[in-house]
Amino acid sequence: MARPPTEAPALPRRLLLGPGPSNVHPRVLAALAQPMIGHLDPVFLDILDEVQERLRRLFGTRNPLTLPLSATGSAGMEACLVNLLEPGDAIVVGVNGVFGQRMCDVAGRAGARVIAVEAEPGSPLDEDQMAEAIARAQPKLVAFVHAETSTGVCQPVENIAAAARRAGALTVLDCVTSLAGIPVCLDAWGIDAAYSATQKCLSCPPGLSPVSFSERAVKLIRTRSVPVQSWYLDLNLLADYLGEERVYHHTAPISAILGLAEGLRRVEAEGMDARTERHRQAATALIEGMAELGFEPLVSEPFRLPMLTTLRLPEWVQQSGEAELRRRLLSIYGIEVGGGLGKLAGQIWRVGLMGENARLTNIECLLNALRRELS
Ligand SMILES: *Cc1c(COP(=O)(O)O)cnc(C)c1O
Repeated sequence: MARPPTEAPALPRRLLLGPGPSNVHPRVLAALAQPMIGHLDPVFLDILDEVQERLRRLFGTRNPLTLPLSATGSAGMEACLVNLLEPGDAIVVGVNGVFGQRMCDVAGRAGARVIAVEAEPGSPLDEDQMAEAIARAQPKLVAFVHAETSTGVCQPVENIAAAARRAGALTVLDCVTSLAGIPVCLDAWGIDAAYSATQKCLSCPPGLSPVSFSERAVKLIRTRSVPVQSWYLDLNLLADYLGEERVYHHTAPISAILGLAEGLRRVEAEGMDARTERHRQAATALIEGMAELGFEPLVSEPFRLPMLTTLRLPEWVQQSGEAELRRRLLSIYGIEVGGGLGKLAGQIWRVGLMGENARLTNIECLLNALRRELS
């Protein structure tokens, strides 16, 4: 077999309008390319402190244990569940898409008794149904997804969190797609554990999972009767690395954290109010433009996510084959959009306008390409 060439192939330029990753801010790319320093270098440790402080503000929390895990969003999910659950514990999980289902899977593998409360993909969870299941099961944990990227649904948080509190349960919230796109207020909502990821509205590359744990959650993790099954994700060990002692646990992905620091600075420079409004306006413009091409929103208006819009496909797209059209968008126009997942495969598209990408120019690129394909 011929050896592959030693010159790297040129990467195409892509406009990433799918469910993530999204395009990375140029200043984040520059931050990633800085020279290497040690993971215990005081300069790096100061940047790590800065990242933690900015993540607390973005999560809307004062939780000391707030940090970027060295892994993707799914590992953040796993960290929350395996640290808080012990074999035999009950957990109520809201399931209205792929990521709620994934939580059930992870919790089941941790030996928990999983009570799934389901809603149709494209609809929010029924708050009364959740409250009833919580009151009946008296679980240790309640978990659900704030921004369901598989369906485009934004889940109202407060009432479900209140029902969990009434039952004495702790609450886990998936903020992977919501963080840095819409407000997240962990303390005001009474959330005990949350996780996110860097490749969605933070406009950084994939590879880090910001997580945050309340004092109540930390106490529970500190007093477990069996050790956390995962050594790598054990927060007792990670807290010692992040704490005063800086006890070596693993080598932090230094470049990725330098990138995240810059991504967080961009978010704060813009301000969350302006950023939320920019996402909202972009989603409105996208829905209006796509309606002219026959695409209809899947989710009813009050529950639509601004950073991820799910659209039912018009006749002309189904006839030419939706996967084929997405292939053409990518190869001819350099635009990536997402297809449907699970039950919604072949029925919808998922168009992401995440972080830096939530801008009218990007929407015009997509609309122009689709208009050409239609004619
Ligand atoms: C993307 C996503 C995840 C998984 O994150 P990865 O970084 O792909 O592991 C989890 N939950 C939601 C809601 C997501 O959108």
